[in-house]
Amino acid sequence: MLAAFAEQAAIAVQNARLAHLLAAEKQRIESILETSAEGIVNIDGQRRVTGFNLAMERLSGKSREDVLGRECFRVLNLRNWQGQSLCNTQCPILISSKQSSRTFELEGTIPTTDERDIDVAMTYSVVYTPEGKPINAVINVRDISKVREVENLRETFLSMLGHELQTPLSIIKGYASTLARSDSKWDLEMLHNSLQVIEAESDRLSNIMNKLLLASRIATGTPTLTKEEVQLSSIVEKIVRRLQVMTTTHSFEVEFEPDFPPVYADPALIEEMLTNLIDNAIKYSPKGGKITISGRNIGKEVRVTVADEGIGIPKEDMEHIFERFQRTDRSVVKKVKGIGLGLYICKSIVKAHGGRIEVASKVGKGSQFTFILPL
Ligand code: ADP
Repeated sequence: MLAAFAEQAAIAVQNARLAHLLAAEKQRIESILETSAEGIVNIDGQRRVTGFNLAMERLSGKSREDVLGRECFRVLNLRNWQGQSLCNTQCPILISSKQSSRTFELEGTIPTTDERDIDVAMTYSVVYTPEGKPINAVINVRDISKVREVENLRETFLSMLGHELQTPLSIIKGYASTLARSDSKWDLEMLHNSLQVIEAESDRLSNIMNKLLLASRIATGTPTLTKEEVQLSSIVEKIVRRLQVMTTTHSFEVEFEPDFPPVYADPALIEEMLTNLIDNAIKYSPKGGKITISGRNIGKEVRVTVADEGIGIPKEDMEHIFERFQRTDRSVVKKVKGIGLGLYICKSIVKAHGGRIEVASKVGKGSQFTFILPL
């Protein structure tokens, strides 16, 4: 009897130890799920949410208390890029399988509590009964907004670049093949005018290429500066002389304070920045008007403003125009040629000099771009 009692007691002790180990292991797994950087959602065979980790709360803005026990398609509401629901048509938990477990991938957007949609990639690991019925799924939810942003940027860039390169190339090809025809004779004036068009369009192509090269140099790191003492007013005068001949509808005024000091800067990059700003002032004032470039010295800084009387910029677009390939989505802007790199380049150049760039604008009245550089 004593031996049997001792054996029972040993089993009880062993069970207690196992139960303790099991509880510790459960806690360990729960804490791994809880602290995972990836969103994790558990659902049962009826598609009810049985687990919702901290990362998922952060990603969706929804609290665990609100979602536990609810159907996952109401909580996640995954939609494809065209806005069609995937939960009702492609949810893996609706599919039977002869395997004991399977994984599935779905991509799309889920809504958050602040009415923002976020792009996510979801991996479903589904467990099945021996009869092939899904009983449980663990869903890993990854935020892929950044990846999608880069993909969208690449698509925008390629379509914009194709469009921008195609026009000058077609013009050059058209003029060159007309001039090359052996059955026609061209007078000198016609020849001269056609070659001028070819030259102007080649300049446009080379301008686009320069912008692309500079933007790619900037994207791989801050541009290296070769600094020297620079008289900003002389650079402005030079650019105005060059651009003045290209327009008859715009007038230019250069107003620098008499004691405007020289700045220590990279002259080539400063010229590139000022050219972009003045070029934009012309491009985005299709009806013409006055373009004023003024310089003021305030303490340890200089402020240079390029002001135009053009189409202006709506408030909601102002924060985006300095980003790469961002052009505002207005028909007036679409009529003007551009690849959305000019202001990105300006901002990067001024930043590399330890300065900043600001914009003020009124739609229909005009814009003022001001860059501030330390002396
Ligand atoms: P791009 O001119 O090639 O489109 P930018 O980066 O120079 O590229 O400008 C980005 C956008 O900012 C333009 O598409 C335009 O919508 C807006 N923008 C820039 N300068 C002006 C300006 N002076 N007046 C009105 N809109 C402007």
